[in-house]
Amino acid sequence: MRLILSFFFITSLFVQAQNNYPQDYFSAPLEIPLILSGTFAELRSNHFHAGLDIKTQRRTGLKVKASASGYVSRIKISHFGYGKALYIAHPNGYTTVYAHLQKFSPEIESYIKKEQYRKESYEIELFQKAEDLKIQKDSLIAYSGNTGGSGGPHLHFEIRDNAQRPMNPMLFGIDIKDNTNPIIKSLFVYPLKNESFINKNNEKQKLRLTPNAQGDYYAEDIEAIGTIGFGIETIDRQDLAANSNGVYNIQTFLNGSRNFELDFKRFSFTETKHINELIDYEYYIKNKARIQKLFKKNNPLSIIKSVEKDGHITIADSTNSVYKVRVADYKNNESWVTVQIKGSNASKTTPKPTKKTPFYINENQDINLSEGRISVDFYKNTFYEGFYVDFEVKNDTLKLHEDTKAAKKNFSISFDISHYNNQDKNKLYIVRLVGSKNYPTYTYTKRKGDVLIANTKKLGTFALATDTISPTIKPVNFKKGQWLSNYRFLKVKIDDTGSGISKYRATVNGKWILMEYDYKTKTLTHDFNDNVILDTKNNLKIIVTDNVGNNSTFETFFYRK
Ligand SMILES: [Zn+2]
Repeated sequence: MRLILSFFFITSLFVQAQNNYPQDYFSAPLEIPLILSGTFAELRSNHFHAGLDIKTQRRTGLKVKASASGYVSRIKISHFGYGKALYIAHPNGYTTVYAHLQKFSPEIESYIKKEQYRKESYEIELFQKAEDLKIQKDSLIAYSGNTGGSGGPHLHFEIRDNAQRPMNPMLFGIDIKDNTNPIIKSLFVYPLKNESFINKNNEKQKLRLTPNAQGDYYAEDIEAIGTIGFGIETIDRQDLAANSNGVYNIQTFLNGSRNFELDFKRFSFTETKHINELIDYEYYIKNKARIQKLFKKNNPLSIIKSVEKDGHITIADSTNSVYKVRVADYKNNESWVTVQIKGSNASKTTPKPTKKTPFYINENQDINLSEGRISVDFYKNTFYEGFYVDFEVKNDTLKLHEDTKAAKKNFSISFDISHYNNQDKNKLYIVRLVGSKNYPTYTYTKRKGDVLIANTKKLGTFALATDTISPTIKPVNFKKGQWLSNYRFLKVKIDDTGSGISKYRATVNGKWILMEYDYKTKTLTHDFNDNVILDTKNNLKIIVTDNVGNNSTFETFFYRK
């Protein structure tokens, strides 16, 4: 009887409270039915997703409308990240954001082009005043695209509060059809102390899940002693697409009382990096799957509501406990998983000794490790907890642990290059060796005299590499001396092996022309509708520079009338 009652009580807690956010203020930014390829705060690499990814029927060029009246408060164009992005500030203090756009409405587009030609740069960032570009609700502001770090055509849409913290747009009545329960893919249990044991073991374990007729799950029973915690791998699907999206809320219960909660309503950009501590970072790096921990130690993330002892569960001898996890989507479709925990001293065995190295990182101290020509500086509070780091130097290669610990701050790696001759010094950069094949990837490298410095949050193996090969530049849709009178676009492919492309500059008859860079297709594109190429004979010159300063110059000519 008691069990039934408490279950009843739990269920009644979830009747959704009326929220305080305006419900009819923001309209949908597209004219098509809203189908999502990404939900708010879903787990991405090194960040939570800040908005909704709305699918655009595999096309670009769909009309994007202002979700509410206001003015353009910011425009940012970059070849990575959000690509072409527009921000509209609204009189009620919220801001809406539209990203990966193909292009803007004619009025905004001409405003931006003026700035791009004035600054001679494709990448720009503008902060506008209220009177510059006023916007009416539902008016055309842009066309959807696939620019920046977008992996397929879609519109990225955000609503931010007055502190520029992204919020779940669904809270404002942006409606997405969803009658599908979240899917619980796996449940893990973690010993949280050296003297904690689960099934006589001091290591994390994956629990077998059995679905029941209602679509909920039972995990296999466990026997435990000491302090333990759980972790869950879960996704949500909406009704109209098979995309694996993020869930809205996760709560846990120990013997009927609430124990821990993850509430994906709002976060700030300064805390988004703590996602790497919310997930089991080592498991993610090794298995590409994200287990969300249902307990915390030093994680300041605001989406974690620590109800009872940070989700840490202490199991005593001769006890029986029931642990439940409830996963819900925004429409309150829910899935439960239940675990029976038997407390037993019989589970106690000898703990495994921790692996020690001579180098202990105390999270409260600055630490320098150096050997030979390589030096590493860890600053206070770089990691969430102390650990023994592997540190090994062989000539110009540094083994700095494995990428198994999440860092919340950069640390600094320095290579002394004074033993190289002056010509070679200019071509060196720091690489991180990635994957089983140790693929060398460029790490942003600064040079101070005879020292190369990389600042990074990733542990792993680092080395020096040389790039002596200049970028390549090839015309795509025209040939030297060709008439291009009926052409709309001028396209060129650029590429660089080694350190990668850092910048480019294109001119016609000595005048700068705008060429948009798409790194995914390695293409530079000029739009003749910019109306800056007005001569009949046009000498095109493009200079491309890589990250260590190797240049290539491509020169040709074409005709237009
Ligand atoms: Zn997105």
